[in-house]
Amino acid sequence: MSENNCIFCRIIAGEIPSKKAYEDELAFAFHDINPQAPTHVLIVPKKHIASLNEASKDDQALLGHLTLVASKLADQLGVVAGGYRTVINTGAGAGQSVWHIHVHLLGGRVMGWPPG
Ligand code: 5GP
Ligand code: ZN
Repeated sequence: MSENNCIFCRIIAGEIPSKKAYEDELAFAFHDINPQAPTHVLIVPKKHIASLNEASKDDQALLGHLTLVASKLADQLGVVAGGYRTVINTGAGAGQSVWHIHVHLLGGRVMGWPPG
């Protein structure tokens, strides 16, 4: 299910180093290389799905799992009390730049609304 030319598949495979935050049989999480908040972690499925647009009914439980991994990590990383944000950017116009679906977990600072 991995794709050779996908940077996140290569991170999951350990071919590109990352600062790992979590791993299980379905998901992998690592700290963003260009953090936009004091805590900024990316939660990705081990299955290559390019974006939310390519996700199907078969991925329903997997997508829910990613969200629950984000909440577990928020607790572990100490950002629950201050509040945190989970974001999936879908499409270039929304800021997606890596075509392997990922949940951003951002915390450790006050978040503005609406997002830019
Ligand atoms: P997007 O813009 O697609 O929503 O988010 C992609 C995220 O991946 C960005 O926040 C970017 O900083 C991060 N990123 C891109 N390449 C790498 C990498 O090689 N390592 C890590 N840790 N993060 C990356
Ligand atoms: Zn991939």
